[in-house]
Amino acid sequence: MSLAIRGILFDKDGTLLDFDATWLPAYRRGAEAVAGLAGGVRAESLLAAGGFDAASGRCAPRSVLAAGTNREIAEVWARLCALDVDVVAREIEREFLDAAGRDAVPVTDLDAFFAALAARGFVLGVATMDGEAAARAALDRLGAGRHLAFLCGGDSGWGTKPGPGMVHAFLATTGLRAGEVMVVGDTPHDMEMGRAAGVGRRVAVLTGAGSRAVLEPLADHVVAGIEALDGVLPSLPPDGRPARRGA
Ligand SMILES: [Mg+2]
Repeated sequence: MSLAIRGILFDKDGTLLDFDATWLPAYRRGAEAVAGLAGGVRAESLLAAGGFDAASGRCAPRSVLAAGTNREIAEVWARLCALDVDVVAREIEREFLDAAGRDAVPVTDLDAFFAALAARGFVLGVATMDGEAAARAALDRLGAGRHLAFLCGGDSGWGTKPGPGMVHAFLATTGLRAGEVMVVGDTPHDMEMGRAAGVGRRVAVLTGAGSRAVLEPLADHVVAGIEALDGVLPSLPPDGRPARRGA
């Protein structure tokens, strides 16, 4: 039996935030800093190793730059530069914190967007592979944090995507059942996390790293971006208890 959707768990980068505008400048600054430490390694080589394709200007959907944790990016770059991973992680941390906080570019007015969903009775959460503190800072600055019942990062202790742990933590926090939850994200990892946790709906957005061709086989719906979610929500199967509980 299909359950009505009552909770929505969003990915952050590429879903709530414009991935390219927020992260590509930070990745370039971080790569240049690490290349400077290593000597003889070009920043372009580090970006390519992380999954950035200079020809298209995009990051591959399953690459560490598109879908990995900061630690995973540091591991790739440290290996290429024969540097200690902790040294690399420290070097890129400042640039990445700036990007996630000060430089974060939202895909829409997140305060108004979340307020409208909350007014309809949806319980809202964010599960990101970014660090929890950086994610909280960015979303608070954009007026989005106050609408969230749940937020976790890759360092929160609930595991990483595509594992189901972040969804399990959302369920434990909100009391919802997996079938009542919709996961919204821009990468295959988001969709696979939703499937691993058995959520009710998986919705892919095209504002991030994933293409329609990559995401369509993994998602129940593919939409242009979160502003198109309205087109998906009314089509969810009702179970007699509408998610729309009123403001
Ligand atoms: Mg993402």
